[in-house]
Amino acid sequence: MEQTPLVEVSGLRKFFPIRKGLLRRTVGNVRAVDGVSFSINAGETLGLVGESGCGKSTVGRTVLRLIEPSAGSIKINGNDITAVGKQDLRALRRQMQIVFQDPFSSLNPRIKAGEIVGEPLKVHGVGDRGEREAKVADLFRLVGLRPAQMNNYPHQFSGGQRQRVSIARALALDPGFIVADEPVSALDVSIQAQVINLLMDLQRDRKLSYLFISHNLAVVEHISHRVAVMYLGRIVEYADKTALFAKPLHPYTEALLAAVPLPDPALKRTKHRVEGDVPSPINPPSGCHFHPRCPYAEARCRVEAPVLRDVGVGRQVACHLR
Ligand code: SF4
Repeated sequence: MEQTPLVEVSGLRKFFPIRKGLLRRTVGNVRAVDGVSFSINAGETLGLVGESGCGKSTVGRTVLRLIEPSAGSIKINGNDITAVGKQDLRALRRQMQIVFQDPFSSLNPRIKAGEIVGEPLKVHGVGDRGEREAKVADLFRLVGLRPAQMNNYPHQFSGGQRQRVSIARALALDPGFIVADEPVSALDVSIQAQVINLLMDLQRDRKLSYLFISHNLAVVEHISHRVAVMYLGRIVEYADKTALFAKPLHPYTEALLAAVPLPDPALKRTKHRVEGDVPSPINPPSGCHFHPRCPYAEARCRVEAPVLRDVGVGRQVACHLR
């Protein structure tokens, strides 16, 4: 029997208007997210990868409605949260949380770590003071911190510990879904694996679903079950992790993988690397957005946008040639 996804996103768009002049007239749009669809099952991690500026963080925030979508639908646990009012959204927020990239700037430096972790419990009126403190102490243990550290301020923690505090706060209301937006990018490489392993342990024990946003393909390969590759606001490839890393189909995925350092310097990459920068989402290239950087581009690519189509079980690619 097919599993009902915990998260279902369909045709998601987020355009930021560009306003100019005295009257602040809209003269264009930044098409940050342009028709993105995906689903995430309970206990599953979907990795969302792409270069900086491709719109992946905007997807994460829009899915949680931290910023409002321009179009599309978002369902969490079967509930369409796209248009629900503030009151209902507040209740639904218990089910979905976010862990940000930089734990230093996302934690208030003047508040003790215990209060930071307990804040969502207080806001949602969970338990009395004593019960909340006991729950926060449990959360500290859960993420590998000592309850005595509840009295510390954020600057008294290392980078990895601060991210553990962020994860404890995200778990306070027992959510089913967490958006992890580059959660280890700001950490030392030696610490990254510890935090990734913590996220994986928590997922196994609590059946958590993650939207794991990262530009680091090695990390995504380690933690994800499925992967969506984003380029300039659109998903260009969507596949099971193993299939995608064994044989990337989209030229952009191929190029991203070619840029991952090989463990043995004697080995050589044979595939094309991607050159140049991501074009502006204000005025994206015509046809296939990737055509100015694609080594396989043909005349058709410059005028006709490829649609994301099925190319196998659970696998989709947006390219005229693949
Ligand atoms: Fe390259 Fe054309 Fe495929 Fe776009 S559609 S990725 S330009 S071959």
